[in-house]
Amino acid sequence: MRQIALIMFVVLIWATGCATSPRQATVKPPPAISATASVSAEQGPFQPDANLYLCPNATITNALAHDSRNRVLNFNPVVLVDGKVVITPVPVNNACMTSGFGHRSGRDHNGLDLKSSPPGTIYSAAPGIIREAKYSSGFGNYVVIDHGQGVFTRYGHMAHLARGVQSGQKIGFGQPLGVMGQTGNATGIHVHFEILTGNYNTPKRSFGLTPRNPLSFPPYTGQASGS
Ligand SMILES: [Zn+2]
Repeated sequence: MRQIALIMFVVLIWATGCATSPRQATVKPPPAISATASVSAEQGPFQPDANLYLCPNATITNALAHDSRNRVLNFNPVVLVDGKVVITPVPVNNACMTSGFGHRSGRDHNGLDLKSSPPGTIYSAAPGIIREAKYSSGFGNYVVIDHGQGVFTRYGHMAHLARGVQSGQKIGFGQPLGVMGQTGNATGIHVHFEILTGNYNTPKRSFGLTPRNPLSFPPYTGQASGS
């Protein structure tokens, strides 16, 4: 069932990607999160954008190839992580990237920083089970989702978490997790998004996993070896 749902959303992306004209300068407001909404294991309303743009004045230390409109070249809106799990590497709409994965100011930056104006809704990047939904001094309000096969995602600095987002909750692709914010150690409103792999069952939990560059994976072409 998971495979079918994923294939459906891939088809949706391709359909919208073909129909979409070049990105407008105006930014649509994010869909409101209903006060009564609660996340579920079903597929949610999110559809990934076909393109990713660098923000004006972005500090992308590991320079990404981009065109004159700051559109990242060779961007894949749906990728296959280690041949096993289908994920969108940008789980927000109408966002630009302020910072990429890699070395930054003498430290490693373990994810992508994405922002939109007004602050946008953040969605689950693939189906899975929520393992962590809490506050830390570094990530602020953050969520970690276990996608199976040793693949995880983290979403940090959220203003607040969506209703029903709690540890142990099963969640489908594209369900709202919360809204971009500046909680924890953040210099501006954005989401910090990580793709992580490894063994979760160590004392360090998600902090013992290996961060991977979300933009380093090959496009999903309809074949996943996992089940
Ligand atoms: Zn970050």
